[in-house]
Amino acid sequence: MDTRRPCAVRSRHTGFMEEIVTHNPRTCVGCRLRDTKSNLVRVVAVEGAFKLDRQRGLPGRGAWVHTDPACLSRALRTHAFSRALRVRNADPESAQRLKLDPVWCHPASGAEER
Ligand SMILES: [Zn+2]
Repeated sequence: MDTRRPCAVRSRHTGFMEEIVTHNPRTCVGCRLRDTKSNLVRVVAVEGAFKLDRQRGLPGRGAWVHTDPACLSRALRTHAFSRALRVRNADPESAQRLKLDPVWCHPASGAEER
């Protein structure tokens, strides 16, 4: 009888890959702390304008930042987005629009914070 189980080996591999994906930390450009993707949002630059990548599927460079408004304002103040996204003259209006996005103040999901 063949006791080797190629299926088990394969599923172990899949599990390993999944672990890499879920434990793949990103660095918040605001506070420089690492966190999982689920706690961060992706910001991209489209023709010099910052844009929130809600679906996390926009092409090009992405900068990750916590959904904490403090992280966003710090990132904007220190020009972290411009540096991370290699944008020279970012549209200041797009930064303002970014600030207004409801993603930064989430009373529903913020309950577990404190
Ligand atoms: Zn942060």
